[in-house]
Amino acid sequence: MTSPLTNHPFIPLVDLKAQMASIRAEVDAAMGAALDRCDFILGQDVVAFEEEFATFSDVGHAIGCANGTDALYLALHALGVGPGDEVIVPAMTFIATALGVSMAGATPVLVDVEADTALIDPAKIEAAITPATKAIIPVHLFGQCADMDAIMAIAERHELLVLEDAAQAHGAEFNGKRAGSMGHAAGFSFYPGKNLGAYGDGGIITTNDDAANERIRFLRNWGSKIKYHHEEIGVNSRLDTVQAAILRIKLSRLDEWNAARCRHAAAYNAALADIPGVTLTRYAEGTVYHLYVIRTERRDELLAALNDAGIGAGIHYPFAVHELKAYQHLDYAPGTFPAAENWARRCLSLPIYAELPDDAVSRSAEVIRRFQSPA
Ligand SMILES: *Cc1c(COP(=O)(O)O)cnc(C)c1O
Repeated sequence: MTSPLTNHPFIPLVDLKAQMASIRAEVDAAMGAALDRCDFILGQDVVAFEEEFATFSDVGHAIGCANGTDALYLALHALGVGPGDEVIVPAMTFIATALGVSMAGATPVLVDVEADTALIDPAKIEAAITPATKAIIPVHLFGQCADMDAIMAIAERHELLVLEDAAQAHGAEFNGKRAGSMGHAAGFSFYPGKNLGAYGDGGIITTNDDAANERIRFLRNWGSKIKYHHEEIGVNSRLDTVQAAILRIKLSRLDEWNAARCRHAAAYNAALADIPGVTLTRYAEGTVYHLYVIRTERRDELLAALNDAGIGAGIHYPFAVHELKAYQHLDYAPGTFPAAENWARRCLSLPIYAELPDDAVSRSAEVIRRFQSPA
């Protein structure tokens, strides 16, 4: 596909085809082997993948489930969070963070994000804590870890649980510690477009807590350890064997793919640094760049200019959580979370993935430069 206004090929926000081509033969063989065994759900590749993902994330246990939203819900439920409890969530995130809380029957309590990272602002957390607060969910948004040292210190002081939403941060690090290894538990998503994506839905929970590990394992499987012996009301949320077989292949490449994302991000930083009216996001060492996000005043017009030039830029996310119709009942007035609202109005995501073509950064930068300072 070429774009109408240029002779250049279209550059999508994320190109799953390029990555699939690089591993296709291995994927076909692994899927074929799983089909031959017919162990479709929680089969041998799931057991192996759970171990490999735990090792990758430097954590004691990893429990596969149906998707990242369920991962957050299952972790909260297993840790005892439920009706009457409040859970602190950043005001700028994908809705699934808040949905995991709602699914557990608890109430999301929003906290504003940092102006320069879009990560939950630790300085604003304590004001949101009430006697009903049970947990904090820091979101490692765009592939960058939230300030886990500050958040764990607050949690310890107030005896709260910390659940990392690591759906965008497989392999990310904070002060040398891997995403998913720092909180009491973490939820990851394997939605196809994530840094580690399946060819369908999938998710995983990580934890160092032996009791939580055991509880999540039977909650995901209708609340039974032994077939037909249902100890409590569980759910059906499991990882398919075929997806686990694919994920094992991709996990073996992930550090390399994340390193390529970091190189592309560095190239964007250099190419965009001196363009007037463009604000770069502050990304720390250890970020795995799920998204490369900039901010600008005339965001919607710039988005259209990029799309017209064959560059698949996007918006993550156009609304803060309290602005969504689904969460109007939380009753937050407009202006309550100014930083989150600022991100929603001004953020723009540029294409980033390991196989990003060499000229993608310079082409994007040229369109942005022309738009921001027309001759
Ligand atoms: C993708 C995502 C989720 C949800 O994962 P699914 O697998 O799509 O259910 C949760 N939180 C964040 C921050 C995400 O980006």
